[in-house]
Amino acid sequence: MSQQLTIALSKGRILEETLPLLAAADIFPAEDIFKSRKLTFETNHPHIRLLVIRATDVPTYVEYGGADMGVAGKDVLMEHGGEGLYEPLDLEISRCRLMVAGLKDAPRVEGRMRVATKFVRITQEYYARLGVQVDLVKLYGAMELAPIMGLADRIVDIVDTGNTLRANGLEAFEHIADISSRLVVGQPSMKMKYALIQPILDKIQAAVVAKREGNL
Ligand code: AMP
Repeated sequence: MSQQLTIALSKGRILEETLPLLAAADIFPAEDIFKSRKLTFETNHPHIRLLVIRATDVPTYVEYGGADMGVAGKDVLMEHGGEGLYEPLDLEISRCRLMVAGLKDAPRVEGRMRVATKFVRITQEYYARLGVQVDLVKLYGAMELAPIMGLADRIVDIVDTGNTLRANGLEAFEHIADISSRLVVGQPSMKMKYALIQPILDKIQAAVVAKREGNL
């Protein structure tokens, strides 16, 4: 029996930018992903299947072998910790920055700062590196609200244009990391399905370069 390959894709804004890269590797979903509520999609290759799941679940699926490879933002991968994953390709899509932000012109915080974020691990590691002790508040969305409502002195969040921060009277203070989406492969899959995976990686890599050079 020929080997099957499952690719986990992050739904939302990353998905739109991922599909052209898959197309360059001659992988096309058999139906319009955006018009369907399905979670799994056949492709033009009988042995390749796509999963469309929450970005934060992609590393988990790939780590535990629920998918052989996947596409997820570096923010999600840093927060997950990267256990059991190879990260062979920077897809150079969905670029943004992970920043510390707070109310515009907020004064320096005396004493222990309270920081609200959904990126608890990244934030913990960031302040640990700086040798600064902070109290973390875990939120699942709308981090911008936390300083406004006095829930936290700072937030750690994704910033692209900065419009969301500005619209809420916030500004970015510190840059933690540049983010883009990455292709990840489960370590056992890389070993056992290398012959199947490597040509796909090569084609996607070529598409990333072509796009960078304005040829895609
Ligand atoms: P902006 O207003 O352009 O700075 O966008 C910031 C908001 O959009 C944040 O609340 C993020 O959650 C979201 N966002 C922007 N870019 C990305 C990205 N590449 N990946 C995930 N979320 C993003």
